[in-house]
Amino acid sequence: MNKIYLSSPHLTGEEQKYVTEAFDTNWVAPLGPNVNGLEEDICKYTGSKSCSALSSGTAAIHLSLIMLGVEEGDEVLVSTFTFSATVNPIRYQKAIPILIDSEKDTWNMSPILLEEAIIDRKAKGQKPKAIILVHLYGMPSKMEELMAVAKKYDIPVLEDAAEAIGATYKNRAMGTFGELGVFSFNGNKIITTSGGGALISNKPDYIKKAIFLATQARDEAAHYQHSQIGYNYRMSNILAGIGRGQMEVLDNRVKARRKVFEFYKKKLKAFDNITFVKEPKGFYANRWLTTILTDSFKIREKIRLALEKENIESRPLWKPMHLQPIFQEFPAYIDGTSVDLFNRGLCLPSGSNLSNADLERVVEGIKKVF
Ligand SMILES: *Cc1c(COP(=O)(O)O)cnc(C)c1O
Repeated sequence: MNKIYLSSPHLTGEEQKYVTEAFDTNWVAPLGPNVNGLEEDICKYTGSKSCSALSSGTAAIHLSLIMLGVEEGDEVLVSTFTFSATVNPIRYQKAIPILIDSEKDTWNMSPILLEEAIIDRKAKGQKPKAIILVHLYGMPSKMEELMAVAKKYDIPVLEDAAEAIGATYKNRAMGTFGELGVFSFNGNKIITTSGGGALISNKPDYIKKAIFLATQARDEAAHYQHSQIGYNYRMSNILAGIGRGQMEVLDNRVKARRKVFEFYKKKLKAFDNITFVKEPKGFYANRWLTTILTDSFKIREKIRLALEKENIESRPLWKPMHLQPIFQEFPAYIDGTSVDLFNRGLCLPSGSNLSNADLERVVEGIKKVF
């Protein structure tokens, strides 16, 4: 039986057109028409004023923190329920992650715990420098509440929308609420450039600065002149060609992933011990991965192992960062929500390229457990 993956690349063939063009015109470098074209496509799609295509989502988060002035010893508020790539760049800057737990409706950062943390950090003598919000599994965070807290305490917001391109909150694209927004085009994301990312902002000065930093921070001069530390974080024109082809089908990919979610929901309706996260009113998730919550760790593991036997990949939800050996020493504002989700939750195969027969196989695999 062929292996069913969690989320594999789904190309159309149209990508090849842009890649061939890059070869034919010898634009084989980390700049060129595809890089510019992809940035325009992303601006048009999200409604953001400016964009820079970068080598990864992680690089985009790192540059964002630099531009927000995050330095050694500064504190950055961040969701604990996320992938490590959200938090690692805080440590690249030798800054301190302050980990915040989730709320139960969207599984994203709790606005209540965020405010509690800010008040407590200030009382302890330091005002946090930035907030990183994550829209996990493509579900928008509670933006109104979170942005109100950020505004009240005047702390800039960076949106890690690595998993959330195509998702909207009250018809506005994720990534456009904060000062800066990040997308990832890794091979497992909803659209891909094999590896890559993008940074968006409604303040073009940020993007100008990001491109400057991402291309080794060269001052204006005929020779190579540097007055700041630079990085090699720009996207290749070849990979941007893949991205342009993928942007053409992004809406289709979102629809397909949402259909996968609906399929599982319908087929597993009879099982009281499997539940799905609902979209609150005004939230439009891209359903990058369909996630289920089971009754217990035991049942979750039973399902996961049963699927593994059938050559089907599934995966526990992200292990919260405050439980990770590398981050457990840092301050955390926790009410148990993300740990509970981690114990009971499972990601199911969700690729837009899965056939109905594949999806049926997953459902049959789950049903066998009960
Ligand atoms: C994938 C991902 C990233 C990192 O993106 P890369 O392009 O792989 O560097 C960051 N945050 C989250 C939540 C992700 O899922």
